[in-house]
Amino acid sequence: MPLTLCPECNNRVSDSAQACPYCGHVLRDKVVFIKPEKSGWLAALLSLFIPGAGHLYKGHVISAILWFLLVGSGYVILFLPGLISHGLCILLAGIARTK
Ligand SMILES: [Zn+2]
Repeated sequence: MPLTLCPECNNRVSDSAQACPYCGHVLRDKVVFIKPEKSGWLAALLSLFIPGAGHLYKGHVISAILWFLLVGSGYVILFLPGLISHGLCILLAGIARTK
C-alpha cells in the first residue's frame, strides 16, 4: 500500500485514505464529475443545416431558439443578413462551451 504525506501534519498515511487518521485532514476532495466537452465541429455542422441546432446540441436551449429565429428572419427579410447571421451562428455553435 503506497504511502503519502499528509499536507497538514506531515505523517505518513495511505494514499487511498479519505482523511488523515492522525489529524483528520481531508485528503480527497469530493469527486467532481466533469462533463465531456461536446464536439465543436459537430455543433457547427448541425448549425450549418439547421440554425441553432448546434447550440441545442451543446445544451444552450434559449440560444438555439434565438439563433433559429434570428437567422430565419434574416433569410426571410434579406438574403445577406441571413447569410451573415448564419455564419456567426455556425461559428459560435462551434466554440460554445458545453452546458
Ligand atoms: Zn494529518
